[in-house]
Amino acid sequence: MISLLSKLMNQIIPYSCVLCHQKSNNNFDLCHQCEHQMAINRQACQCCAIPIEGTALVCGKCQQHPPFFQQSFIPFIYQDPIRHLILQLKFHEKLYAAKILGHLLATQIKQNNKALPELIIPVPLHPTRQKQRGFNQTIEISRFLSHKLNIQMDNSIIIKEIHTQPQIDLSRIEREKNLANVFSVKKTPVAQHIAIVDDVVTTGHTVNQIAKLLQSTGVEKIDVWAIARTVT
Ligand SMILES: [Zn+2]
Ligand SMILES: [Zn+2]
Repeated sequence: MISLLSKLMNQIIPYSCVLCHQKSNNNFDLCHQCEHQMAINRQACQCCAIPIEGTALVCGKCQQHPPFFQQSFIPFIYQDPIRHLILQLKFHEKLYAAKILGHLLATQIKQNNKALPELIIPVPLHPTRQKQRGFNQTIEISRFLSHKLNIQMDNSIIIKEIHTQPQIDLSRIEREKNLANVFSVKKTPVAQHIAIVDDVVTTGHTVNQIAKLLQSTGVEKIDVWAIARTVT
């Protein structure tokens, strides 16, 4: 019924693609042609989602030092046009991009038959950063995922107490130092299976810090869901 309604609406007021500005032939603001330009993270480590070659399911790094989460699902590689949409959302206040990114992630989760968690937790921003930006992009993406996949979202369990420099500007060692003890748990989640939601995963340190905290509260299964994986 809803899809019929959205098809009808699309005939009356057609969706227009935010990337090429042509009429969208999808039921959201991104056309099929631009959607197919997105680089899919096809062969990735099941644990951290870094692209891998060969037949191994888990990368060497995760085998040697398993993180505190069990699985990652990060369907895209961080390059244009997905990179462009993420940057538009984070630095140019284009909130429509959260809906498109959330739509793409939810579709990929459904298509890949991922086991759904009971709860999703967006990676928090420090209150100062959130105030500067006016919103937290991972909450905006999670809001859409929550609605589309019918999973509860809670952004009050994990908070970021210490203001840190953006990870992208730092070396690997500086990143680890930068993230030590910056997050804390405010309340014990009741769910046993949780997905942490981020926009971009680079080293995985941020999500691992959060997974460590969640595990310490007794959560049994922790997944990481993100839009894009950087390839270094
Ligand atoms: Zn387009
Ligand atoms: Zn891995």
